[in-house]
Amino acid sequence: MKGKLFVISGPSGAGKSTITKLIVKREKTLFLSVSSTTRTPRSGEVNGVDYYFMSKDEFQKRIEKDEFVEYALVHGNYYGTLKSEIENKLNEGKNIILEIDVQGGEQVKKKFSDAVLVFCKAPSNEELEKRLRGRNTDSEDVIMLRLKNSLEEMKYESKYEKVIINREIEDSIIQLKKIIEEEVAK
Ligand code: ADP
Ligand code: 5GP
Repeated sequence: MKGKLFVISGPSGAGKSTITKLIVKREKTLFLSVSSTTRTPRSGEVNGVDYYFMSKDEFQKRIEKDEFVEYALVHGNYYGTLKSEIENKLNEGKNIILEIDVQGGEQVKKKFSDAVLVFCKAPSNEELEKRLRGRNTDSEDVIMLRLKNSLEEMKYESKYEKVIINREIEDSIIQLKKIIEEEVAK
């Protein structure tokens, strides 16, 4: 039996990465796809673990070779999911979660109609800004761009099958775990 594909998207700072990293640590049957990006690594980020960091030139070459399941320009950088990250694992029956933006989510749903799309948002715009600032990873320009883009991203909420309002981390993990268990049992 093939594995299930889950997508988690939502505005930058909502908490997607925090929740996703914690759940894959706890759920041994769920694997996180490592995305590729042209963004520069943040302090502490490791190549091949957080992302495959690459130049625009390399990313472009991989697009030409049709190596991506999906890719998009997000906050001024390219991000994409390599086919090699998911195809073998799905065939082996492993469940995979993609933490990708809303444009990528739309592309995945077109290719994998049974993929489950989960939208993760902060309880308010004020809280989103607080989390983006509190993360301490981005310059003021980057924070402002991400907040501006969050308004556009929020319009995709209705296209997503499930919504998690990330108030408390532990509670959000329980919600995501429940969604995954229900879908896997179908
Ligand atoms: P995203 O992956 O959606 O961009 P992150 O997972 O990096 O967001 O989270 C942004 C910041 O908010 C981080 O500093 C993280 O520790 C914090 N955070 C995540 N979830 C919560 C929560 N439920 N309550 C308070 N802070 C949170
Ligand atoms: P960050 O720079 O904060 O790590 O990620 C910025 C945005 O890029 C987030 O919305 C994240 O979900 C998205 N993203 C990360 N990886 C991918 C990917 O492989 N494809 C797409 N389309 N978006 C991605």
